[in-house]
Formats: sequence, structure tokens, C-alpha cells
Amino acid sequence: MCRMRIVVTGGAGFLGSHLCERLLARGDTVICMDNFLTGSPRNVSHLLGCPPFRLVECDLTGFVHVAGQVDMVLHFASAASPFDYLRHPIETLKVGSIGTLHALGMAREKDARFVLASTSEVYGDPLEHPQRETYRGNVNPVGPRSVYDEAKRFAESLTTAYRTTHGTDTAIVRIFNTYGPRMRPYDGRAIPTFIRQALNGEPLTVTGDGSQTRSIGYLDDTLDGILALADSDFEGPVNIGNPTEMSVLEIAETIRDLASSSSPIHFVERPVDDPAVRRPDTTLAERRLNWRPRIDPVTGLRRTIEWFDAYLHGGRERATT
Ligand code: NAD
Repeated sequence: MCRMRIVVTGGAGFLGSHLCERLLARGDTVICMDNFLTGSPRNVSHLLGCPPFRLVECDLTGFVHVAGQVDMVLHFASAASPFDYLRHPIETLKVGSIGTLHALGMAREKDARFVLASTSEVYGDPLEHPQRETYRGNVNPVGPRSVYDEAKRFAESLTTAYRTTHGTDTAIVRIFNTYGPRMRPYDGRAIPTFIRQALNGEPLTVTGDGSQTRSIGYLDDTLDGILALADSDFEGPVNIGNPTEMSVLEIAETIRDLASSSSPIHFVERPVDDPAVRRPDTTLAERRLNWRPRIDPVTGLRRTIEWFDAYLHGGRERATT
């Protein structure tokens, strides 16, 4: 494959920083654009000495310009955890709308392929299970989660309009819950929260009665799926996620066992509009991208717990946000 010059928006976040690493490892040049709202330059500091990598501090909702050729734009900028997007509701709507408009504008100007990081949240609290890409979703447009769900739905619509109106080479990936090293221990998502609590001997806070389900995908599988789509000519939308469905209580108990922790489980109030079930149908990804997840939850969770243990207790800087 030809080496490319690739813009990664949100490249200093969890998924974006790993994507930057993957792209550099295969020989691409990477321009990482981020305003550090929920990400951090620390996530990519190890890449800074590497000449094909450039970090640009930039808010995608403002003026955006990159000099020279760009072959691909991977648009990952957006708060992603409920804790973050509920703290930054307007910023989340702005980056999903204006930020996506600017990222698409860049792709159009440069004649670059554009990949939108969309989400399983476009399905809302789904009435179809598992969710296929043809399902149109069940989203409350005025509920607290709508700032994220509707921003991504708008971003998908805008991406499609650029494809049909301007002929921009676009693709949409609907990413399901992904976990792995470099998540922030206090980002509010269930897996980092349970791991931090289990490792610190604190109660694991399970929302509701814990019977709601999630399908959790390990980082490496998600990155493989995203890159398979980016390197294809498929426009999607396509689900990338692990169809192994677990209840939230089961996830908490598995983490507690793998961390050899004796933390109790505490049941706390369930957030408004929290989806009852979530499982991707990945038939389309298998057929069009020859992609399927390979890492089972126990293996992925064990790797993630090891990373968090080193991060929290291994003498590295302790994260507080
Ligand atoms: P993250 O919060 O770690 O990363 C998002 C990055 O975007 C951060 O570095 C943040 O500073 C940056 N950003 C936010 N607003 C910006 C703006 N206006 N201008 C420039 N940069 C901005 O989240 P993540 O988990 O890495 O998610 C990355 C993308 O993947 C998001 O678009 C998210 O919706 C999507 N996604 C993630 C998951 C998941 O499980 N991690 C699931 C579905 C979709």
C-alpha cells in the first residue's frame, strides 16, 4: 500500500492516539489535530520526536487549515463518554456539526477519503436487537444523551450529503463500546470505572440492577475494523463491535475476578435514557471488510486491567480527570 498523509482529528484522545500510532507504524505521515478538551498531548508525547508525526492544537469548530496534500481525514474529534459530553453539551453538538462540516470541507478541498467515527449511540435505546445498520434507531431528541446521539446522527447525515452532493469519498463507521489501555480512569465509562474501583478496593458502582447489556470490543479489534474500512472503498455505515453480549453486572463481576479484588458491588441510580440492550450485527463488516473481532472479553479485560494497574500504581503519574 502507498504511504499516505493522514489527518486524524481528535488524535490526542483514546482511540485517536492509538490510530496515530498504528498509521505511523505502517509508514503513513500523520497530522494530529486536537483541542485537548477530553484528550491530552500526553497521549501522543511519545510520538512527538517522530518526523512523520505532527501535533496541531486546533479547535475543529474554528478555522481549520492544513497545508499541502492530504490523502485521508479520519474524523474522531468529539467527547465520547457520557461523563464528558454531559459536562460539555454545547461543545459536543458543535464538534459533531460545525467540526464535522470543517473536516468534510478539508477532505473535499484535498480530494481526500473521509472517515466519520460514528457510534452505536445512533441506535439510541434500540427496539431492534441485535442492531443492523438498516435500523434507524430510537433516540430521544431532547433527552440528556441527545447532545451526543443527535450530533452523531447529524454528522452521518452531513457526511452522506457531501458524498451525494460533492462526490466526496466518505465512509461511516459505527463504533460500539471499545475499551483498552489509555482510557482515563475517571472518564465515567463503565469499564475504566470498574477497573479503577476494583484495583483500589472500592465498591464497584453498577447502575440500575445491572441487567442492561453491553457488547464490549477490545481496542485492537476496533482499530483493525476502522483501518479495514478506511483502506477500502466501502462507504458504510458499518458496525464495528464485538457481538458477545454481557450484562453490566457480569462485566463488573468479571473485572472484579480478573483483578483479584474483593470489592463489593453497590447498585446506584441508572442514568436517564440508558439503553437496555446493545449488540452489533457484524455481518456487513464480515462480508464487506472481511473483519471480525478476535479478542474475547476476558483476554481484553485482563490486558486492560494490567495496563491500569501499572498506570495507577506503577509509579506513573496518577490521573485525576
Ligand atoms: P476521547 O474523548 O478520548 O477522544 C476525543 C478527542 O477529540 C479528544 O482528544 C478531544 O480533545 C478531541 N476533541 C473534542 N472536541 C474537539 C474539537 N472541537 N476540536 C478538536 N478536537 C476535539 O474519545 P474516544 O473514546 O477516543 O472517541 C473518539 C471518537 O470515537 C469519538 O468521535 C467518539 O464518538 C467515537 N466513538 C468512540 C467509542 C468508544 O467506545 N471509545 C465508541 C463509539 C464512537
